[in-house]
Amino acid sequence: MKLYNTLTRKIEKFKPLQQGKVGMYSCGPTVYSHPHIGNFRSFLVADLLKRFLEFKGIKVTHIMNITDVGHLVDDADEGADKLEEAAKKQKKDPLEIAKVYTDSFLQASKLLNIKPPDKYPKATEHIKEMIDMIKILIDKGYAYVVGNNVYYDVTKFANYGQLSGNTLDDLNAGARIEINEEKKHPQDFALWKHDPKHLQQWDSPWGKGFPGWHIECSAMSSKYLGAEFDIHTGGEDNIFPHHECEIAQSEAASGKKFVHYWLHTRFLLFDGEKMSKSKGNLYTIQELIEKGFKKNAIRYSLISSHYRQNYNFTFDGLKAAEQAIDKIQQCVIRLEDIRKTAKQGKISEQVQKLFSDCLAEFDNALSDDLNISKALAVCFDFIREANKSDMNSAEASALLDTISKIDSVLGVLEAADTEVPENIKELAEKRKAAKLNKDWKAADAVRAEILAQGWTVEDTPGGGYRVKRAGEV
Ligand code: AMP
Ligand code: ZN
Repeated sequence: MKLYNTLTRKIEKFKPLQQGKVGMYSCGPTVYSHPHIGNFRSFLVADLLKRFLEFKGIKVTHIMNITDVGHLVDDADEGADKLEEAAKKQKKDPLEIAKVYTDSFLQASKLLNIKPPDKYPKATEHIKEMIDMIKILIDKGYAYVVGNNVYYDVTKFANYGQLSGNTLDDLNAGARIEINEEKKHPQDFALWKHDPKHLQQWDSPWGKGFPGWHIECSAMSSKYLGAEFDIHTGGEDNIFPHHECEIAQSEAASGKKFVHYWLHTRFLLFDGEKMSKSKGNLYTIQELIEKGFKKNAIRYSLISSHYRQNYNFTFDGLKAAEQAIDKIQQCVIRLEDIRKTAKQGKISEQVQKLFSDCLAEFDNALSDDLNISKALAVCFDFIREANKSDMNSAEASALLDTISKIDSVLGVLEAADTEVPENIKELAEKRKAAKLNKDWKAADAVRAEILAQGWTVEDTPGGGYRVKRAGEV
C-alpha cells in the first residue's frame, strides 16, 4: 500500500511500525458549533482509510479527539477561545456548549456510518497529561515561563517547519507585528495560558489557566497510541500551525519520531470557496437529511473524490450519489432473489474469476494512495458483469459476499435507512396471512413485491418474520 506523506511530500510505501497493526490519530471537531460537511469530508477520509486497512486484515487502533477548550479563533494564540465565544453568545456554560455540539457530531457520525474510533478523548479530561508534557518541555529547555504563561521556544527545535515547509526565516519575513512582547520569538506558541476572565480554568504549577490547542493533541495521542505511531490525519488547514506544533512538542518531549505518515484532506468547497463556519457557507449532515437526501448518498458523495483534491460540493453530486447507490442496491436485490430461488450448484470458473479479479483490483486501486475513483469504477464494472450473468444460487451468494466485502470499505449499503416503511410492513403482514391460509403462490408473489422495493422478509423460528433492507446482514 502506498500513501502520500505530507511530511516527505512523496508517495511512499506504507510500512507500519508493527506488522499487522496500525495506530492512527485524527484531529476531531472543535465542539463550538454543528460540524459541517467539510469537517465530515476529513473525518470520512480517516474512516475510509481505517476501513481499508481493516479490509487488508490490519488491526487499527484509532483515536479521535474532541477539542472542548483552547482552540482560539486564529488557530494560533490570538482571538477568543471558540468555545468560550459560543458560550457567551448563547449565555451558556462552555461545558453545555461542548455537550450540545459533541452530541450533534456523534449523531451525524452515526448517520454517516463512521466507525467509532476506539476512543474520543476530550481535551478537558486530559489537563493533567498536558501539564505533565509541558513540565517535560520546560525541563528539557524547549519551553519557558513568563509570569503565568508558558511558551514553546521554536528556535530550540531544529526541525520546526519540516511538515509545512514554513521555515522560521520565511515566517519572520512575512510576520505581522507581534503584539505579544512576552514571546522570545514571534513564532513561539502558548502551551499554557493565563487569563483570569477565561470561563474554563485549571490549577497548574504556573497558576490558574488553560492549555493551548496544540498541546492537547500531543498529550492525548501519546497517552493512547504511545509517543511514536503510524498515521495522523486532519484537514489541510491543520498542517500549519497545528500539526507543525504537535511535532515540535511531541518530538522534543519524547526524543522519538512522532508520526510516520501524515495524511491531509483537501478542503470541501461550496461555490468555489472553502466551506467554513466563519464564511457561513455551510451545510450540516442533519440539514441535508432534512432536505430529503439519504444519509448513505451523503456518505458516498463525500468519499467519492480523491482526498488530495478539493471536492466541490453540489446538490447534483448528491443526486448522482443516490443513483449510484441505487445501482448497487438493484444488483443486490437481483442476486438475493437468485440466491433464494435458483438451483444450488458449483461456482463456475468464470464467476470465480469475476469476483476474485474484482476484489484484487479494488484492493490495488485503494492501495494506490486511496484511489477511490478507480475503486468505484472497479465496483461498477463488477455490478455490470454481475447483472449480465446467469447463475446458480451458490454463485449469487458468492457475488453478494463480494459486494458486502467492498461495502465493508465504502460503508454505503450498511448506511442505508433501515427503518421499515409502512407499505412494506403491510405487505409483510399480507404475506403472513397468505402463508397462514397455505396460499403459497400468493405468499411468494408478495415476497417478490417486497424484494422489488429493496426489502427482504425472512421467516424466524416460531412463525414470526423479520423484514430487512436487501443486502443488510
Ligand atoms: P475544527 O472543528 O475546526 O477543529 O475542524 C475539524 C476538522 O475538519 C479539521 O481536521 C479541519 O482541518 C477539517 N476541516 C475544516 N473545514 C474543512 C473543509 N471545508 N473541508 C475539509 N476539511 C475541513
Ligand atoms: Zn489536533
